[in-house]
Amino acid sequence: MTAMTARVPDPTEAPEQQPWQWSEQTWRGHVDRVRAGRSLTPASWPGGARVAVALSFDSDHETIPLREGETRPGKLSQGEYGARAGAPRVLRLLDRHGIPASFFMPAVSALLHPGEVRDYVAAGHEVAMHGWIHERNMLLDPADERELAFRAADTLERLSGTRPVGIRTPSWDFSDHTLAITRELGLVYDSSLMADDEPYELLADGEPTGIVEIPVEWIRDDAPYLMMERYGALRPYTPPRDVAGIWRDEFDAAYAEGGLFQLTMHPHIIGHRSRMAALAELLDHIAGHDGVWYATHADIAEYVLRESP
Ligand SMILES: [Zn+2]
Repeated sequence: MTAMTARVPDPTEAPEQQPWQWSEQTWRGHVDRVRAGRSLTPASWPGGARVAVALSFDSDHETIPLREGETRPGKLSQGEYGARAGAPRVLRLLDRHGIPASFFMPAVSALLHPGEVRDYVAAGHEVAMHGWIHERNMLLDPADERELAFRAADTLERLSGTRPVGIRTPSWDFSDHTLAITRELGLVYDSSLMADDEPYELLADGEPTGIVEIPVEWIRDDAPYLMMERYGALRPYTPPRDVAGIWRDEFDAAYAEGGLFQLTMHPHIIGHRSRMAALAELLDHIAGHDGVWYATHADIAEYVLRESP
């Protein structure tokens, strides 16, 4: 085998070949760069619980328009709603149920709303990384992605009082360099990938990394069901209570399988009155079950690592 054929392909280079012309080594190289390793599903959840419930909220607020360079007050106000009305409403609902959650927050959002970060911490929730300004990692040079990630970690640590242990890439946009940066940051887990319903260990070019993946899915995300674009064709196509019905089926199956039920929501999306009614209904359904372990993403990552060292 020559050094030439052993070379790991770099997709940022101009493509020399069409995918159907790739050698087996080339297509295997792409697939193996970041891949699911061993399952980290524990034999049982803490206290003999039958299911782990991990609720997360991505507190993007104004960074969704800002990352596009969109500075119109009207668009920014939709994000501001998330901080001003959505997040407090989410906190009240979690408090009513006594449920801990994970809040993934772009550093710029945390700098705009430092009191919100303090409220999360005071209520016992996790604050974790979600980029600098909700940037798209795939558009960045590796050095820029790394610098923004370290700056975001430092900013969250300063505002929350704790160094974050987990990351969710903005828009789940996971670049070829994200995993190496995640390892260099010393994080315990990522929550951006979709290879399983249950936690697993990430492999980098076939090698175990020790990084836990808490997998996400668009099915368990409020955004695709409920977002709306005024000048585009994107309109909400699922009524909020139907969304809660899909999530209830996801929870029921996770409960039956003894697995993980993970949700991704956004204060500026789910935080509206009619949608919070649907979320409250779902939480009531979950509360009707015995053996539910409510945990932050960090709690779950640390538990499954302890159980499968
Ligand atoms: Zn986000």
